[in-house]
Amino acid sequence: MSFHQELIATAKAIVAPGKGILAADESTGTIGNRFQKINVENIEENRRAYRELLIGTDNDVEKYIGGVILYEETLFQKMADGTLFVDVLKKKGIQIGIKVDKGTVQIPLTDNETSTQGLDGLAERCKKYYEAGARFAKWRAVLRIDVPKGLPSQTSIVENAHTLARYAAICQANGLVPIVEPEILSDGEHTIQDCARITETVLSYVFRALQEQHVLLEGALLKPNMVLPGSLAAKATPEEIAKYTVQTLQRTVPPALPGVVFLSGGQTEIEATQNLNAMNKLANRPWSLSFSYGRALQASVLKAWSGETAKIEEARKVYIHRAKCNSLAQLGKYEGEEASASASESLFVTNYKY
Ligand code: 13P
Repeated sequence: MSFHQELIATAKAIVAPGKGILAADESTGTIGNRFQKINVENIEENRRAYRELLIGTDNDVEKYIGGVILYEETLFQKMADGTLFVDVLKKKGIQIGIKVDKGTVQIPLTDNETSTQGLDGLAERCKKYYEAGARFAKWRAVLRIDVPKGLPSQTSIVENAHTLARYAAICQANGLVPIVEPEILSDGEHTIQDCARITETVLSYVFRALQEQHVLLEGALLKPNMVLPGSLAAKATPEEIAKYTVQTLQRTVPPALPGVVFLSGGQTEIEATQNLNAMNKLANRPWSLSFSYGRALQASVLKAWSGETAKIEEARKVYIHRAKCNSLAQLGKYEGEEASASASESLFVTNYKY
């Protein structure tokens, strides 16, 4: 297989019908915040045990999950029985992803807007990750809406589009399918129409930059925010969200791209599933519309586990349930569920850092 063919095959496999991504690539600091809520100490063994809970889940998980994004530490960790996590995933036919960015820093002379770091040495890291079994990568760029202040600024839009495109090209040159993630935070009072207009602008800059860096769209995935009203504005219905999100993608995302995998961005687990389902009920979608959820796939699982070995199997049932609901939503066949309290809980975090 030529390296182009491998990229294309990997991207397609991740977003095959009914499949999406589990984003389990929380940095050590971020997983620490999650652990704090369930009184689990943030030490390597607990992080390993929690990731073993997710990666070691069976019950047809591979029907719903086409890829798992790992943090670097996890890529080299093992199950309690000594099997490498990557070997467990490979055996299930689940593609292995790796977070390759190094977090955000302020862009000087802007109103606290950010740029993502990690381009230096990226080619070498990609080579090492490919050898370890990774076949796709993630890089999160973050933009903020403040309509009165005119944010995101042109500076932030251009900087983040360029950086995402450079990252994507470096990944592809080293065999990894890049997930291009320009996350527009939902913080604020803005309307869904403001979010639609700004998302449209941001995505059009991103695809222009990808084209300038010769990125093969057939071997890449987009991870955008859904088009939502701001966190401080009144909620919209799944149908409104679906209409604006799909319209925005139709205006900006070429059909050559195999898949769009949304982040959950602080939606409740149930909202994230309902909104994805509503999109997949609409016509005119040349790309697979799927999920790459972190919080919306894990919040209830973490709670069910609470760090107790005796509760691992119970927590795995919760994970499979959410994965299955989102798989149905990917097919537009989700018919609702009895909402547990934790699946309805807000997962919003102000100015979210990953
Ligand atoms: P959330 O689904 O929790 O927003 O996170 C997904 C992710 O991978 C952010 O980069």
